[in-house]
Amino acid sequence: MAVNSKTLGILGGGQLGRMSAMAAERLGITTHIYCPEAGCPASLVAPHFTCAKYEDEQALKEFANAVDVISYEFENIPLKTIEFLQTLKPVYPDSKLLEVSQNRLKEKEFLNSIDIPTAPWAPCRKSDDIKVTLESWKTGQCIIKTARFGYDGKGQVFHRDSDNISDSWSSLNTEEAVIEGIIDFDFEVSIIIARDLQGQMAVYPPVKNEHKNHILDKTFYPAPLPENLQAEAAEMARKIADAVNLVGVLTLELFVTKDGALIANEIAPRTHNSGHWTIDACKVSQFENHVRCVTGLSVGDPAPHSAAEMHNLIGDDIERLETYEKMENAYIHLYGKTEARKGRKMGHVTILKE
Ligand code: AMP
Repeated sequence: MAVNSKTLGILGGGQLGRMSAMAAERLGITTHIYCPEAGCPASLVAPHFTCAKYEDEQALKEFANAVDVISYEFENIPLKTIEFLQTLKPVYPDSKLLEVSQNRLKEKEFLNSIDIPTAPWAPCRKSDDIKVTLESWKTGQCIIKTARFGYDGKGQVFHRDSDNISDSWSSLNTEEAVIEGIIDFDFEVSIIIARDLQGQMAVYPPVKNEHKNHILDKTFYPAPLPENLQAEAAEMARKIADAVNLVGVLTLELFVTKDGALIANEIAPRTHNSGHWTIDACKVSQFENHVRCVTGLSVGDPAPHSAAEMHNLIGDDIERLETYEKMENAYIHLYGKTEARKGRKMGHVTILKE
């Protein structure tokens, strides 16, 4: 019998790439990491590593020649790189989805075009756009986010009634942004979906996320969501996955409003920090499912076997390791980063519950 012995190329060398490479290894799939940073977390566990810039066509060609299929572990890979690689080898998820998730304006347009609700929004290219939008919304406050390259609360400003509009606009130092109405949410959830080449899907249950300093701090499964909202979140995820012909894993972040509605915030065309708990608490983790789907295997069973809590170890949180080590039900994951800088994700801990 022939056995799947593919080589998977992964662009990006962070912890998401690392945990994907570890999942691939268990399936007998070889990984090849491509990242401009020597010693990056994924390169430390993958058998093959190319250290080169995302713009280096020769290195990209050699990388494509050495692998069967290509994926990426973060969405800020230049679109051109993905488009170039697509001419050489299959790349999943494809450049269309990447393009949508790299630009908040395109992302909102896309979500609304398939009837997925978002916060009220308007494009912003000059400070006057903020004034006009706020007047038409009859409010004095909003969030303004750069259209591209925002993450962990970076590239956004909360504009209050008392703030000067041009100051808020110039603080973003950008040419294109989105103005968003403020959602008075109760809490935030995310939902992860995997879809294979045959179009079969596996949806993980939604989880509740808590942030600290705009960075994910803790994830809780199960989320305190009524069954109808759980089903609605899963339906939204399926709708998006089908609409973009997803191959691989996609994450949808949602606000749960105080009156029990779900509002989409953003999509990530990749595995997600809020899915790390699936390694220890589910039959098939988000990482294994991503690898399965992009390498042509069928999507695996996402069913959780335990309730779980995930705690990120950010910067100095690493000093709390000893406490976690003493906990019988705590599963520690460290990413091989040797320097604990402020805001840097050093590892995470999954605490299994009954
Ligand atoms: P984002 O970069 O879009 O994920 O936003 C970072 C965080 O800012 C979110 O996790 C929310 O806590 C908050 N936030 C973003 N957009 C809104 C919004 N429209 N209304 C209220 N809070 C928001």
